[in-house]
Amino acid sequence: THRSVSDSNIVPIYDREPIKNSPYLPEIMEKLNTIFGMRQFRKNQLEVITATLDGRDVLVLMPTGGGKSLCYQLPAICQTGKTRGVTVVISPLLALMRDQEQSLLSKGIDVVNFSSDQSDEANSDSWAKLNGRNKPSIMYVTPEKLESSSKMKNTLQRVYEQGQLARFVIDEAHVISSWGRNFRTAYKNLDSLRRHYPTVPIMALTATANSKTRRDIIDRLGIQGCEVLLQSFNRPNLHYSVRPKSGKTIVCDIATYIKSRHSGETGIIYCLSRDKCEEVAKELRDKYNLRARHFHAKMNSDDKQRTQKGWQDGDFEIIVATIAFGMGIDKHDVRFVIHHTLSRSLDSYAQETGRAGRDGLPSDCLLFYSSQDVNAIMSQIRNDKDLTPDVAQLQIDELWQMSYFCQNDVDCRRKELMAFFDQVFDPRDCHKSCNNCVEVKELKQENLTRQASDAVRLLQMMLRRDTHISHTLCVAAFRGSKSSDVTKKGFDGLSPFGAGKDLPAKLVQRLFAHLYSRRAFSQEPQSNGMWNSNYMQVSMKHIRRWVCHEPAVARRKSGCLLKRQRGSGDVSRCQYFRFVVG
Ligand code: ADP
Ligand code: MG
Ligand code: ZN
Repeated sequence: THRSVSDSNIVPIYDREPIKNSPYLPEIMEKLNTIFGMRQFRKNQLEVITATLDGRDVLVLMPTGGGKSLCYQLPAICQTGKTRGVTVVISPLLALMRDQEQSLLSKGIDVVNFSSDQSDEANSDSWAKLNGRNKPSIMYVTPEKLESSSKMKNTLQRVYEQGQLARFVIDEAHVISSWGRNFRTAYKNLDSLRRHYPTVPIMALTATANSKTRRDIIDRLGIQGCEVLLQSFNRPNLHYSVRPKSGKTIVCDIATYIKSRHSGETGIIYCLSRDKCEEVAKELRDKYNLRARHFHAKMNSDDKQRTQKGWQDGDFEIIVATIAFGMGIDKHDVRFVIHHTLSRSLDSYAQETGRAGRDGLPSDCLLFYSSQDVNAIMSQIRNDKDLTPDVAQLQIDELWQMSYFCQNDVDCRRKELMAFFDQVFDPRDCHKSCNNCVEVKELKQENLTRQASDAVRLLQMMLRRDTHISHTLCVAAFRGSKSSDVTKKGFDGLSPFGAGKDLPAKLVQRLFAHLYSRRAFSQEPQSNGMWNSNYMQVSMKHIRRWVCHEPAVARRKSGCLLKRQRGSGDVSRCQYFRFVVG
């Protein structure tokens, strides 16, 4: 039933001119000063607050730490807006809800909290307030509670009919899009808000959303025509770098880095698995005398709380965590975020690194990259029974993008990251705050169309002889290897055999990575009679689609142009790419 919004409806307004004469300004400023004890607004806060008080729908994109909470907490206690009553805040995180509840209570704001883990009896006060004459200003609720409790639905309906629903607020709204399909089905059902409470304004807030996610949020919530307030995602105080990872020395490399650059400072290290977190934290403590502890989803909630609090209070500086850690943490002096393993997507990478430097002081984001890690995450995605094939494919695509970002050792990282969020960034403004801008290389461009299409043809021919072609075997044949694996099936007799023999090994890996990221190549697990192994497949569909999706590219005659560092095999950014195969 959802209409899809066209791009033109949600023309982003970046960092636009601040409002000067909001009709609600006197009350807003008064509450800002006396209740929240703040002197002025940060970027876009006043604009968001004015829009919601005016009864408009708003989509707010602000980086982590930008001050999203104030955007709904302040209007919730204003009397002058067009709607009145309870501001219903839907938040995915219990811990975050409790923190906010406490802090609001301490400011004398009337707030109630409903979550799925509390019985209705434990919540009797909250229910009484919601049903009573003096309604609370803010009500926090998890999406699950909203979905599953008919008592909740009936109560809200009644409050609505009394004209006492001021607005719905959806915090961490990207969950609708990226998690909604797998982890938090309850978020998906938020599309009913508009239908059930058609006159109640909706505010959606998120820290990370590219234009696809943005459109998805708007579509699902049915808030076409909403005001979109975007903030530039550039975080000038963060320094980004990516280094190759050596499995053997990684912990030593991390420890050396911390000791030389961030001794005694607060930081987060992200690892892929729970075991890895425990192992790395222990090694940092025992071998390198660093104050580190692990944090992951499998810990019991007491342990989790204690660890989080200890870190927050500065009892120890370094937290070694899975991605379970971080959403909603409020620590401002994180000086470094280290990725022991690459993130699953650029979106996650931006979130995770975004936790550094919330106080605006210079902070470092260092990622250790290895292609084995890409494979490990790939298997995790493939083995995840909860993912539908579509979602798994989506996540794999995102992983390739992430991997490609890491392998790109030429272009400004800031520019690449911003481009992912559909924001344009002039690399000259990076001012050497990413390792690619620090280590400027002399570049040359090279047209690899022929080699790329030869690689595709070669694989197609190899697959006609044998369906079990591993990545290694394909690369070997492409590079003209005469190893027995290649010769025994006669692959050395195929015409594109050895098409990449003049390319350095590293360049070949880049070219293949590129073909994977474009979905020309893929790897699928297949049984070889003994165990499951990954074998290559080729998809002409994606090659063709790629060509027709980029008409500007197709018009140009040249093909696969890759920039590479002069004198070395480092290929990075593909500029355009056109296949003339099959
Ligand atoms: P987000 O949800 O966007 O990550 P928060 O709402 O948690 O960010 O805010 C981050 C921090 O910034 C909080 O400590 C908050 O008190 C502070 N903050 C927000 N707005 C302002 C402001 N206008 N002036 C001063 N501090 C602010
Ligand atoms: Mg927040
Ligand atoms: Zn840069």
